[in-house]
Amino acid sequence: MIQSILISEAQIQAKLDEIAEQIRADYGDRPLLLLAVLKGSFLVVSDLCRRLGDNVTVDFVQVSSYGNGRKSSGNVQIRKDLDINIEGLDVLIVEDIVDSGQTLDHLLQILRTRNPNSLKVFALLSKPTARVLHVPLDYVGFEIPDAFVVGYGLDFAERYRNLRDIAVLSEDESSLAP
Ligand code: 5GP
Repeated sequence: MIQSILISEAQIQAKLDEIAEQIRADYGDRPLLLLAVLKGSFLVVSDLCRRLGDNVTVDFVQVSSYGNGRKSSGNVQIRKDLDINIEGLDVLIVEDIVDSGQTLDHLLQILRTRNPNSLKVFALLSKPTARVLHVPLDYVGFEIPDAFVVGYGLDFAERYRNLRDIAVLSEDESSLAP
């Protein structure tokens, strides 16, 4: 059950306006690849890419570490690789949420070996107090407390991705996870 709304749809959309402006200022007219980390980033990347110019392309990668549970297992695997070769490209990873940092750390290590021209990260949500590994975040939407959140792409056991707001899930429900 949803316990409370943490970030409203209006707050998310206003923040994306700000972030898109920063990205436009930083990259100018240079081609930019938005690399969305599935599945949680599917809404944020669709809203972000429509705020950017004609030189933006989108690709997807899926990395698994959670299963249906609440905590990162640290056992990070690529489940769906990118479709394109990123050598020489400016790449901006679009993450829904950075928690322990293990998923992103692993992804950054893999992508660096592919020699992009630049590799930066936009995380819509960051939980700084849950961090186990330091990961560089170039753009951050919101810093949030260490609670389990759902909505705007984020799921619990595949549900709630379609909520327009970001909400905190009640302990009762999330503690049922394996
Ligand atoms: P990390 O490896 O940083 O601990 O975890 C990153 C991944 O864990 C995210 O991409 C996301 O899939 C999942 N995750 C971390 N915290 C939450 C949360 O509060 N809610 C949901 N739905 N997923 C989370």
